[in-house]
Amino acid sequence: MDANNKTPVLEGWFTLDEAAPHLLGARCSACGTYYFPKQISFCRNPDCSGERFEEVRLSRTGTLWSYTNAAYKPPEPYVANEPFQPFGIAAVELEKERMIVLGQVASGVGLDALRVGMPMELELEALDDGKLVWKWKPAAGGAR
Ligand SMILES: [Zn+2]
Repeated sequence: MDANNKTPVLEGWFTLDEAAPHLLGARCSACGTYYFPKQISFCRNPDCSGERFEEVRLSRTGTLWSYTNAAYKPPEPYVANEPFQPFGIAAVELEKERMIVLGQVASGVGLDALRVGMPMELELEALDDGKLVWKWKPAAGGAR
């Protein structure tokens, strides 16, 4: 497949390096708080008046904080195939930023393979229409 033809479901939310994709977040220039998604206009830290943010590549690994089975179609901006098929949703605490980012569980990974606290890593998968979304899968090797 030609990687140049790949388009993301959401422009600018993640890098398109399929070998090692990163979600793109924002970091407050004043206090260093991380945000995802990056589309924010003021810092939500009540002790900070920062209004300037830099785009940062967030950790592509983390630990599984929680997970569930999505038996209903998730709200925007989470994008799923149509007709909707139930899938797993993982909440992963990013390695460095310590923020929780939701994502679908990778295809072929059953919820019975998941355990809270296990290392996870980001991957990109194409939906039926060929557009890419990010998903979480157990980290290769299992070690940090
Ligand atoms: Zn701030």
